[in-house]
Amino acid sequence: MIAALALFLFTSVAGRVWCGYACPQTVWVDLFLIIERFIEGDRTARMRLENARWGLSKIAKRLAKHAIWLVIAAMTGGAWVFYFADAPTLLVDLLTLQAEEIAYITVAVLTATTYVLGGLAREQVCTYMCPWPRIQSAMIDEESLIISYQKDRGEPRGRGARRQGLGDCVNCNQCVVVCPMGIDIRDGMQLECISCALCVDACNGIMDRIGKPRGLIGYNTLANLDKGAALQRGQFRLLRPRTLVYGILIAVVGVIMLAALVSRPRLELNVQRDRNPLFVPLSNGDIRNGYTLKILNKVHQTRHYRLTIDGLPNARIKVIGRDDAEAEFTVKADRLASFRVLISTPKDNLKGETTDIRLRILDQTDGKMAENDTVFRGPKP
Ligand code: SF4
Ligand code: SF4
Repeated sequence: MIAALALFLFTSVAGRVWCGYACPQTVWVDLFLIIERFIEGDRTARMRLENARWGLSKIAKRLAKHAIWLVIAAMTGGAWVFYFADAPTLLVDLLTLQAEEIAYITVAVLTATTYVLGGLAREQVCTYMCPWPRIQSAMIDEESLIISYQKDRGEPRGRGARRQGLGDCVNCNQCVVVCPMGIDIRDGMQLECISCALCVDACNGIMDRIGKPRGLIGYNTLANLDKGAALQRGQFRLLRPRTLVYGILIAVVGVIMLAALVSRPRLELNVQRDRNPLFVPLSNGDIRNGYTLKILNKVHQTRHYRLTIDGLPNARIKVIGRDDAEAEFTVKADRLASFRVLISTPKDNLKGETTDIRLRILDQTDGKMAENDTVFRGPKP
């Protein structure tokens, strides 16, 4: 809940920063693009290669690119699987073809999805598959930071020696070239924009070269854009009702979780009564019921517990597998242990077919208790 609320908060403050900077899809696409650029060159070189006839060089470059992409994709798939198993053992098993079928299937599916989504589908995933662009529009208001182009300053755009009457945009198209989503930010705010700010850097570089002030493309708010002004230092309002509500909700959930963590029981007892047989009449006339106790020790030390019974006077406890008559149990640190227990009582003790009883375990070290209500069954009176 905190992660979801934090995402809402960051979106209301700075738009799609999650998409632009932290989403695995964006990060993997960036990684795949670095490989592509390294092997095939910049955009112009890549377009030249795309249009070139198939030859040895083109085949070698394409093979190298896709091979590295596949290795990255396989490592991604492997990382997922290794996370849920003993990694060194599983790696050896995978390489020696000894691993479970499901491990190969999982690695294959994750390799294929990483390769297709990160290498081939790229920004189409953000535009057509991801629901977040649709949801985030509900979290953005006129005070949220968005990437925008200052139309009043940039238009009319144009290039050439005679720039009289033209705006600051020289129509170099660098902002479009670098955009991973393939959009032109000069057309206004668009659903596809992931706020990666690559167009900001590209345009600032151009402004530096032509001696104009930076910020033709930059962070702004819708409220400010309506005034046709760039966002000035100190103009952005971080504290507003929407961000305050998200901030308060995060604090409330955090406090509740902290309280739950601090006050969580360190000892738990779970009791399951045998259902077959419901009870056993003994040769001495007593009635016996069987129970399974599950004791969860959440402290980092081995603890010893003593079992007592409420509601069944003169009951005798026998722990299966033990010769002594002690109703004591030892549970290792951070472990759940299971014990089989037989409880017997004289038939005269029972008022009816069912007697409510309470089983209680007491930590012999710190006196902490855990209890569980159950019943003791006997024959009809
Ligand atoms: S990078 Fe800047 S100057 Fe070049 S086209 Fe884009 S907005 Fe205009
Ligand atoms: S328009 Fe700019 S900020 Fe938006 S996705 Fe394209 S490069 Fe990134």
